[in-house]
Amino acid sequence: MVTSLVNNREASHLKLHLLSEGVTFTESFLEKFGCDFSLMEKRRAYNNSDDAHLDLQLRVPQEIIIGDVVIAVKHKKDSPWQLEFKESYYLSHYGKPVTLVSFPFRPLLFDQKTPKGIRCDAVANLYGGSSLAFFTPSTCYYFKNGFECKFCSLEPTRDNETTFVHTITPEVASDVFRIALSSDPNIFKQIMLVGGNIPDYNLGFKNNLRITKSLNKTQEHLPASKQLEIHIATMPPRDLELINEFSKLNARLTMNLEVFDDQIFEILCSGKARDYGRENLKRALQYASKTLPDKRVHSILIAGLEPISSTIEGIKTLVSMGVTPIINVFHSDRGSPLENLSQPSYENLLSVALELEKVYQQYELTPYWNGCGRNSLDFEALHGWFS
Ligand code: SF4
Repeated sequence: MVTSLVNNREASHLKLHLLSEGVTFTESFLEKFGCDFSLMEKRRAYNNSDDAHLDLQLRVPQEIIIGDVVIAVKHKKDSPWQLEFKESYYLSHYGKPVTLVSFPFRPLLFDQKTPKGIRCDAVANLYGGSSLAFFTPSTCYYFKNGFECKFCSLEPTRDNETTFVHTITPEVASDVFRIALSSDPNIFKQIMLVGGNIPDYNLGFKNNLRITKSLNKTQEHLPASKQLEIHIATMPPRDLELINEFSKLNARLTMNLEVFDDQIFEILCSGKARDYGRENLKRALQYASKTLPDKRVHSILIAGLEPISSTIEGIKTLVSMGVTPIINVFHSDRGSPLENLSQPSYENLLSVALELEKVYQQYELTPYWNGCGRNSLDFEALHGWFS
């Protein structure tokens, strides 16, 4: 049993370990958490990074919170890390207590319905304890012909989970957001839009724009300091001028390179490479970074899918383009072609994290997920907690 909490610096290093090595649960933990309905349970909205040894019917957390650090929970049977409960929740390493931990609260929103009778939890999710997340559309056309990204488990996960609405309209998103503002005024700190792709890239982009505008309108009565920034992860449109509309919105945009190495991209993201094109993706990032103010254009690189030196080169190149890099740690998702690929080691993640820390501090970059990036390292890098 443990009664103390490690500091944010130690917690950031624990994050690297837990993202690399995963975690298991003791019986007492599962018993306690299983009945702790005030805490947020794991919802597999679009991916499943628990190994095949976990019974998916069990109620488990989706994130661990240690101080200000939020960490994704990924069950790995052979992990040396365990979540335990004895008077309080704590983390242990080979059975030795390390630190107290906590978990995000479950928003009251999820038990409510919109005026049209749609359950809010079928529309939105909670990401990282403080981001109101909309996943739309819930399918991705790359899966049709086997051109999906090889690390993605969207289709196998959604096959098992049928509770989510397929396409979210601006009206439905705004109805849910309106309820969230009154039911959980202290939980949500940002909004996130993410989803699969449709073949018409302009239409996909416009759909995100429409939802963003509607969400902004829903909160326009609030003082600016209370309004939530909207973060959109999407493929770029073919017509780059559509990006101009973002400059007037309270929003950030991420268009993801996924890996820095062009050849690895062609193999791992064959749908994106075939139908949109790697060079077009880079051109779109360049265009957006020149068009949108305040370094509000981001791009994800996934650490663990290419040599670490390549990820580090990617960080520097993105910064030189005026794009803020996001480093997400690879998770081997159940049902994806990369299900059996090993997670990156703690040492490799630390090398990337230290490089990220340098550029975040030097260029005063803003993390895409501000304190809620369960798989990303940006928030901790900004604060210098890795060095
Ligand atoms: S673009 Fe790739 S990662 Fe995104 S939903 Fe489609 S297949 Fe999955």
